[in-house]
Amino acid sequence: MATSLGLPAPVDLRRHDPTRPLVPGPVLVLSRRSSPGAGPAPGEQDEDAAALARHLVDRGLEVHRHEDEVPSIGAVVLCLTDLETPSDLTGPALELGSVLRKLAPGGRVVAVTRPARGVALGAAANLTDDTLSDTAPEAAGADTGETAKEGEGTQSSRTGAFSGVVRNAARQGAIAFLRSTAQEMRGGVTANGIVVADGVPVTAPSVLGGLDFLLSGRSAFVDGQFLVVGSAEGEAPAAGGEEAAPLDGKVVVVTGAARGIGEQIARLLAAQGARVVPVDVPAAGQALSALANDLTTASLSLDVTAPDAGTRILEHCRSRYGRIDGIVHNAGITRDKMLANMDEARFASVLSVNVEAPLRITEQLLADPAADGLRVVGLASTSGIAGNRGQTNYAASKAGIIGMVAAMAPLLAARGGTANAVAPGFIETEMTARIPLARRQVARRLNSLQQGGLPRDVAEAIAFLLSDAAAGISGQTLRVCGQNMVGA
Ligand code: NAD
Repeated sequence: MATSLGLPAPVDLRRHDPTRPLVPGPVLVLSRRSSPGAGPAPGEQDEDAAALARHLVDRGLEVHRHEDEVPSIGAVVLCLTDLETPSDLTGPALELGSVLRKLAPGGRVVAVTRPARGVALGAAANLTDDTLSDTAPEAAGADTGETAKEGEGTQSSRTGAFSGVVRNAARQGAIAFLRSTAQEMRGGVTANGIVVADGVPVTAPSVLGGLDFLLSGRSAFVDGQFLVVGSAEGEAPAAGGEEAAPLDGKVVVVTGAARGIGEQIARLLAAQGARVVPVDVPAAGQALSALANDLTTASLSLDVTAPDAGTRILEHCRSRYGRIDGIVHNAGITRDKMLANMDEARFASVLSVNVEAPLRITEQLLADPAADGLRVVGLASTSGIAGNRGQTNYAASKAGIIGMVAAMAPLLAARGGTANAVAPGFIETEMTARIPLARRQVARRLNSLQQGGLPRDVAEAIAFLLSDAAAGISGQTLRVCGQNMVGA
């Protein structure tokens, strides 16, 4: 299709393959203190970078701290947790730049950073209240009388109160640095980050689990994004190779599972050990039964907009398994029209399926103790972040999902659960196959990887967010969009 319009064929992305290693070569761990000429000052440690390197060694990977040691690199992990001033970024940035040509096709860059108060990361990822908590006493005027600890080559007499401001500028700078780096990559290389809340160690399960996810082929279509780890909850991935069944025994409902992205979610979760309950409308009964047969499970024929849909899902799970561990709100529809031509049926039906149903179903599930520890994943969309011409109804519904998970996270945390969303960009499905060819071709090319994603790319992100390792990530929206220019 691409060649028929005279466009070059996009590169093959490196997707998960259990017979291949986690990364296509040795991993280089860089940090501010490892950059040329820096090195730890006497008494200073490079603890975070060392801890990340240890985790990678435990994963069975070949790990180096200096680029001259390796002719070819599978991934670079850039530890930026100790940025104090914007110019602290110069050393590690240039060191990363000097090794990019050594990165193998399908390689990875993963930065580990601390949060900044500023432009939101994707959706509700800003952690604004806690971001500068370590500087709060200073901001309140409790000046210690000491000057801030100076980074190499920085200003000399900064008061304690202002050092938090400077640090925030440095941290926010790291975000756009990484996003720009992602846009410069070729050969299916991606660049992503992990933002670790202040007070949470880089050895927290979701940091290490997130690092594994971002390094692996499971994140093939995630590019220019940040996972935000807000707590040290969760179970760290075991040492050794990738876990075969991270969702072992978990009971997970997937709505809209008869085809497209939902079908791939159901299949992948089952492959990772989950007991999946596929749900779809009665009209999709044949495809739904075929899927349930393949997964040796019982499906549930149900319109998610039914007033008692949540109760029926709960009854189904309770009678068969005694509980429910997760739900993926995937069922969704589009009814695109320019607003001037929009009618009530189109507008209302999109809101009803895409956001009213997930809200009502989740509320009904949470009314029951069987849903303690519930892990919720909603399907948002990049249209819900940036808006999209002709999709006023759809964009509103998908932004609703982003708002839902952000506000639901604290409610679920109180019961040991999480709520997150995944925002796909252009994914090759029956839904997007209906877009006229020329528009479709532009849409699938408008991202850093210059191609559409596959349903399985979305499924991989959802499986990660449902895993025990991701329990420290909640209220977030993770884009699976190849760094789509829309809403960048
Ligand atoms: P699809 O149209 O191929 O599949 C949607 C499934 O949901 C179908 O099986 C359909 O029968 C089911 N469904 C619709 N209404 C339902 C209802 N009322 N009750 C129960 N089931 C219902 O769509 P897809 O492309 O696989 O998209 C899946 C999800 O991902 C949707 O929420 C969509 O908005 C979202 N998404 C898709 C893309 C993309 O590029 N394909 C991009 C962003 C977001």
